[in-house]
Amino acid sequence: MARETKLYETLGVDPSASQNDLKKAYRKLALKYHPDKNPNAGDKFKEISRAYEILSDEDKRSTYDRFGEEGLQVGGGGDGMSADDLFASFFGGGMGGMGGMFGGGMPRGPRKGKDLVHTIKVTLEDLYRGKTSKLALQKKVICPKCSGRGGKEGAVRTCQSCSGSGVKFITRAMGPMIQRMQMTCPDCDGEGESIRSEDRCKECNGAKVVSQRKILTVNVEKGMHNGQKVVFKEEGEQAPGIIPGDVIFVIDVKEHPRFKRSGDHLFYEAHVDLLSALAGGEIVIEHLDDRYLTVPIIPGECIRPNELKVIPGQGMLSQRHHQPGNLYIRFTVDFPEPNFASEEKLSLLEQVLPPRKVEKAPKNAVTEECVLSNVDPTESVRIDNNVNPTTATAMDEEEEENDGGHPGVQCAQQ
Ligand SMILES: [Zn+2]
Ligand SMILES: [Zn+2]
Repeated sequence: MARETKLYETLGVDPSASQNDLKKAYRKLALKYHPDKNPNAGDKFKEISRAYEILSDEDKRSTYDRFGEEGLQVGGGGDGMSADDLFASFFGGGMGGMGGMFGGGMPRGPRKGKDLVHTIKVTLEDLYRGKTSKLALQKKVICPKCSGRGGKEGAVRTCQSCSGSGVKFITRAMGPMIQRMQMTCPDCDGEGESIRSEDRCKECNGAKVVSQRKILTVNVEKGMHNGQKVVFKEEGEQAPGIIPGDVIFVIDVKEHPRFKRSGDHLFYEAHVDLLSALAGGEIVIEHLDDRYLTVPIIPGECIRPNELKVIPGQGMLSQRHHQPGNLYIRFTVDFPEPNFASEEKLSLLEQVLPPRKVEKAPKNAVTEECVLSNVDPTESVRIDNNVNPTTATAMDEEEEENDGGHPGVQCAQQ
């Protein structure tokens, strides 16, 4: 992670050199090492040309200063503008256009830091109305005093002991064998560089980063879904030489006591008494935004047990269609308690309800009159499970082994 200075060294200038210094240095070296003048200089001319090409471009220079060679989007083998072209353009040889240099190959950026992932707990009300949450984040940022250098300009030295690699190789003779081992450089603790203690930045004590509290405003938008992410790009921990990771908030919706959600639709379980179901009435639904929906049941509408109805447009806002989904209502019809009315009054029902269905055994069949008794509630649960195969569970199978017969099932199948 050592901040590189190699390109500056190639031109023989300090990293703080001005553009004018760079230009002078390049002019001098280019003339000296140009293959025409100095055919034995090897790649030296190419190297200084490349160094100048990068450092003379403020954008590229700042990328290099921050991320080193790795940060430059330099293609593998592409030469882009040749050293000769650069030389020509510099000394007025007629070549124009500085663009597209060192192009080709795959772009390769600096390393990206870790994303910080948090959950943000919200209610269904929050998602219906939308909400803004301010959340405090403690994170490391590049020290503002030393700009992440850790000390004064030039105070950071490449570790002599490991030449900046952060690791050292030691060889040990073990009998006839010589073993080569890699270890973290003890002089720089693997940092690859060192800062003299008197030159260390007072703000960060050479750590290059300091802690900072940052408030992030999270917009929980209307209609967002459980698990959806709110991303703050590059708001993660900063460190020299990396692009900070993102801060990601994952929406975590609490269960709602009244509503269930499916996609952009809401589901509500309504209870309605028998009279309202048959002769009309009204149900009231407390919505998610302080409104109460009053829903009339039209006389004679005859809501059936378990019937599903819908109120269009009262669901969650669809982020895709920008209009709300529906509110579905599942009705439970609450029947009156047993013996709710006298026989006399019950006879009044005959005047309004459709007539009884009359069932008859076949002519000449043997008939036997039976009596209905109430079922033991614990037993009835078991029977329900067995009658309805969709709700049967492993537990039922166990019971089968235990007690064999199912009088309830047989009864139901008669
Ligand atoms: Zn070292
Ligand atoms: Zn500092």
